[in-house]
Amino acid sequence: MPFVFRQEFEVDEVCIKRAAQMILEAVQVVALTGAGISVESGIPDFRSPGGLWTKYDPLLYGTYEAFVNHPERFWEMAKELNPLLENAEPNPAHIALAELERLGKCRAVITQNIDHLHQRAGSTDVLELHGTHRSGHCTSCSRVFTLEEMKELSCGGDQVACCPHDQTSIKPDVVFFGEPLDSRVLSRAAELASTSDLMLVVGCSLEVYPAAALPDYTKRRKGRLIFFNTVSTHHDAQADLACLGMAGESLPAVVEAYKKLAGLS
Ligand code: NAD
Repeated sequence: MPFVFRQEFEVDEVCIKRAAQMILEAVQVVALTGAGISVESGIPDFRSPGGLWTKYDPLLYGTYEAFVNHPERFWEMAKELNPLLENAEPNPAHIALAELERLGKCRAVITQNIDHLHQRAGSTDVLELHGTHRSGHCTSCSRVFTLEEMKELSCGGDQVACCPHDQTSIKPDVVFFGEPLDSRVLSRAAELASTSDLMLVVGCSLEVYPAAALPDYTKRRKGRLIFFNTVSTHHDAQADLACLGMAGESLPAVVEAYKKLAGLS
């Protein structure tokens, strides 16, 4: 049975110490992050109440097929999302993972997020499984466009952004449902997951594959899993420890506790 604390939104001291001890004992630590880690930065996740999918039906807005047939829907959603992504700042959870890397205790961050907040917090090895919102490319001539250029070409989201050279639709470099992930990024993520003895799984619903399979890779090699989430789910059965609470509170507390245990503070 996993060790689960059920005090929601409270950082439990025993849980924090236990997580810190697991980090101390681990040799190769990797983090897997999802939309939940950026919620405290003001970017809604998909599935929580009030999340993006309550407003934008994933079948109409989130699939590759929908983008090909109705690209205007994507740009309509981007009009609302882009200001959130642009104004967001890394929160204490992103900063705590960057600090763990500096302490030699986080070899990489594998993220499902497209928001670039890990890099901005100082993490230097970030695998963006689902791509990035910061660039796009022409689906015909492959010319690359920056976010600023895409915003200008879509008139701030009021029209479909098209390549000025051949008038073909520009596809943002985010991975839509039904689209394959970059195979190099995915195979490095799988490699990291299967050679780590501890994975920190932060703000992930573990409903989106293939990312959701990565904790299994660590588990199969007898590695351990710590989940950081505001709610408990049936996936907690997989975890060795589930820390319930806001990641922006629990992760910094765990890093501080680790530093104390390791004699670093
Ligand atoms: P999800 O929306 O399915 O789940 C988010 C999880 O985070 C939930 O389990 C929720 O309980 C938890 N959570 C919410 N607030 C939290 C907090 N403060 N601290 C800890 N946990 C918290 O998201 P997902 O599993 O990451 O996958 C869905 C897809 O959403 C991904 O493919 C990703 O590309 C995309 N997405 C990205 C962003 C972003 O870049 N910030 C935002 C929304 C969606």
